[in-house]
Amino acid sequence: MKMKSRRNFLKLTALGTAAVITNPIIASTQQEVELTPIKSSTKPIVISTWNHGMEANEASWKILSKGGTALDAVEAGVRITESDPNNTSVGLGGLPDRDGIVTLDACIMDENNQCGAVAFLQDIENPISVARKVMEETQHVMLVGEGARQFAFEKGFKKTNLLTKKSKEQWEIWKEKSKYQPIINSENHDTIGLLAIDEKGNLSGACTTSGMAYKIHGRVGDSPIIGAGLFVDNEVGAACATGVGEAVIRIAGSAIVVELMRNGMTPNEACKEAVSRIIKKHKDLTNLQVGFIALNKNGESGAYSVFNGFNYAIRTKSKNKMIDSKYYRDR
Ligand code: ASP
Repeated sequence: MKMKSRRNFLKLTALGTAAVITNPIIASTQQEVELTPIKSSTKPIVISTWNHGMEANEASWKILSKGGTALDAVEAGVRITESDPNNTSVGLGGLPDRDGIVTLDACIMDENNQCGAVAFLQDIENPISVARKVMEETQHVMLVGEGARQFAFEKGFKKTNLLTKKSKEQWEIWKEKSKYQPIINSENHDTIGLLAIDEKGNLSGACTTSGMAYKIHGRVGDSPIIGAGLFVDNEVGAACATGVGEAVIRIAGSAIVVELMRNGMTPNEACKEAVSRIIKKHKDLTNLQVGFIALNKNGESGAYSVFNGFNYAIRTKSKNKMIDSKYYRDR
């Protein structure tokens, strides 16, 4: 075991030796073990869900490559997706609920387990920045609905009509049958979840969405819920989710992925195990797409989804590229 005084240590009081031995980020079999320092070649790094992640990653990268913090990077990254009117699953232009109202959910978490969230928020283009204000300028973690909206106005956010012509037209077509039915990998872009490690090796994450299209007015999914849509533990790693939020909440998805990494799994293995728990709890998998992405403290990433078609974007010093997630079943 390396000298205990030199670096951060992870307490593993509840773990057996086998779990410790297989842990790629842990350097010893003792109960208090040292985390292997991150390789300088793997940081900074940013990963994010779906194709829209490519653009978001670039915005994050501008900050990370200049030595900026992971927190600033994750916020800047997902703001791009939120402000894109052509993206129908996040922020401006998001598909509305069954009453034709766009309601947004978002959360953010930093390396000190500080976190902020907004849910069921209307009229604000960048809910992630409101979530950050909740984190930094209040003693609370989550604000919802009208309270969140009022708070945003107090903090200087502008009122924006989020329902674009394109989304309104799609909703009008949907209304003819009015059948709520999640569609797997709809337009190949859903919630954006984005995780980053900065130059100093600190982790942060952000998650933002307009939620499931045509949901009941008032419905909130996993995306703004710390531990479900997003979780960050700076000692271990971070994870976020996309897909049917109810299924993610039922297993505390992102927190579970991080705990599985703490207990020795690689990011891929941890995401796979979380997906398998969802599969075990649902007899009918019809339209039940869920995907997780994860990043450990060493800068290793992974993903897993119920069905094929889920992908994520990864940005390192050398490249920004899409990776197809491994999955349980073909559609
Ligand atoms: N997870 C989001 C929700 O349930 C939607 C998605 O990622 O597609 O609101």
